[in-house]
Amino acid sequence: GWRSVCSRRNVCSSPSRLQSCMSAWVIDQYGTNEVLKYSEDINVPTVHSPSEVMIKVHAASLNPLDISMRGGYGAKLLKLRRDPMSVMDNDSEFPLILGRDVSGVVVDCGSEVTHFVPGDEVWAAVPPWKQGSLAEFVTLTEYEVSHKPKLLSHTEAASIPYVANTALSALVNAGGLCRDSSSNKRVLITGGSGGVGTFSIQLLKAWGAHVTVTCSQNAEGLVRGLGADEVVDYTAGDVAEQLEMMEKFDVILDNVGGEMEQLAMGMLKPWSGAKYVTLVTPFLLNTDSMGLLDGTFHAGFTLHSKAIQNLISSGVFYRWGFYAPDGPALDEVSSMVDAGKILPVVEAQFPFTQVPQAFQKLEDGHARGKTVVRVA
Ligand code: NDP
Repeated sequence: GWRSVCSRRNVCSSPSRLQSCMSAWVIDQYGTNEVLKYSEDINVPTVHSPSEVMIKVHAASLNPLDISMRGGYGAKLLKLRRDPMSVMDNDSEFPLILGRDVSGVVVDCGSEVTHFVPGDEVWAAVPPWKQGSLAEFVTLTEYEVSHKPKLLSHTEAASIPYVANTALSALVNAGGLCRDSSSNKRVLITGGSGGVGTFSIQLLKAWGAHVTVTCSQNAEGLVRGLGADEVVDYTAGDVAEQLEMMEKFDVILDNVGGEMEQLAMGMLKPWSGAKYVTLVTPFLLNTDSMGLLDGTFHAGFTLHSKAIQNLISSGVFYRWGFYAPDGPALDEVSSMVDAGKILPVVEAQFPFTQVPQAFQKLEDGHARGKTVVRVA
């Protein structure tokens, strides 16, 4: 069991041994910002399986998903993912802890954990079906966790994991790009000023791609500073008109969706393996409104028919991008950060007492990078 390993690792000072309750921001029902509650008697998520790592949270950050999940988005599918066989004593997801990013320190490890020991500084993106990081402690599986970049403070580090795992999954798995194949690629990133955008610009520039970004006029300085080669101000008139005057793209990463989806397809190089990857997908909305089976079927049908239609009419691939937990991918990002190739973009910081204010900031929109919560 973990005891033999942990005694070797001298974790007697582990807070898990000393306390059974922790403080966290939780919701007991879905709704607007008023449902967020601070509690000091939430069970500490101790290590339950040999591959788990328990982390003392120093900083967390917020993503648009936190706002959606606060309102019940994805509830049906996430509930199934948490408890596929409906075996939990309590089949309620409440009290639910939001917050997807963590930077912190390992305090306990399962017996089969090989990459981490207590005391290690780590970062991770917490999958939406697990209890989140707006809490004193979070427990994850080893493969979801990574050693945090040495050059960053916890506050800076917390701004990166969820957008990094999302961007890498979307650009690599769906977009077919990688470090060695991007140097002659033209990539368009819509919504370049937000969390995913500010990370993706830097990643793609480090990989040698040519990067065009759409954003508001007042974000141009930010995205150019991060390396964007060309910037299109979508508030200055017809964005399609401006983009159509440019050379066509190999990959489009769409953080905006809506009418961009239609427009973007015509901006890809035809019949050359070009890919449109959107992060704005109806998947969880469908399962929420239609139920799991119909929702999944409907989403699959939509994706399939759009993919076929685009491939047949213009020889371009239409794909959905998704966040995927991936510690090893974060290891790569960690070394890129320590090599100075990727900078954290922290727009706003809030203390742990002001989580509702942090949610409000995010909900007001117009992100310029990330909103971080200092937990410890
Ligand atoms: P953010 O809120 O951090 O950023 C969104 C950015 O888009 C803001 O900077 C906003 O600034 C800008 N924007 C809004 N409208 C437009 C427009 N028409 N053209 C260009 N820019 C625009 O979000 P994230 O970067 O974290 O996420 C991006 C999207 O991806 C979200 O919809 C999110 O839900 C989704 N997502 C999906 C995931 C998945 O697994 N499928 C995972 C992660 C994110 P301004 O309004 O001032 O222009």
